[in-house]
Amino acid sequence: MTENSKGYFKKMLDAVKSVFTGLGVTIGYGVSPGREVTQQYPEVKREPYDRFRGKLFVDINICTGCTACARICPVDAIVLKTVRDENKKLRPVVFDIDNARCIYCGLCVEACPVDNCLYFRKEYEFSSYSKDELISHFGLGELPQPDKPAADRPSPDMPAQAGPAKDQPVQGKTDETRKEEGK
Ligand code: SF4
Ligand code: SF4
Repeated sequence: MTENSKGYFKKMLDAVKSVFTGLGVTIGYGVSPGREVTQQYPEVKREPYDRFRGKLFVDINICTGCTACARICPVDAIVLKTVRDENKKLRPVVFDIDNARCIYCGLCVEACPVDNCLYFRKEYEFSSYSKDELISHFGLGELPQPDKPAADRPSPDMPAQAGPAKDQPVQGKTDETRKEEGK
């Protein structure tokens, strides 16, 4: 028998041995219920690990509207529009997170300068038949304009009025922008 054919038969023997080794493990679990490793999902749910990255959330009340998260997002999953309020602070009037685009990289969470403002929850069951339902809306909405007569108020169809250009950082991309870019 040549060296080549010896090697060939040794590999075959190893393959057969590995099949029976695997079968032994499977049969072991099969005949011993105490060793079950499967769970009856969705009746039984596993608690995710502490660092699990589930659905992304923002505590909009402590968000400074700095836009760091939207600017760093590699897939434009965050659409953020801000206006200056009466105290010259940025107000996130629109803060949308598209969970269908998000790749859960965590870059936005790392970039956020405010502790516990942007974070992953352990929630992982949010599948949907509609992509629109996968967008989380956190924005505070436009500032109330009680002094203006109704005729002067912007129509709900108009884009957010954001004051001077330097005061309205608009980050991320809207679906319209993406369509224009052919994404
Ligand atoms: S986790 Fe990554 S992909 Fe998702 S919104 Fe944040 S930066 Fe974008
Ligand atoms: S980085 Fe944090 S504080 Fe800045 S806009 Fe995003 S969520 Fe708000």
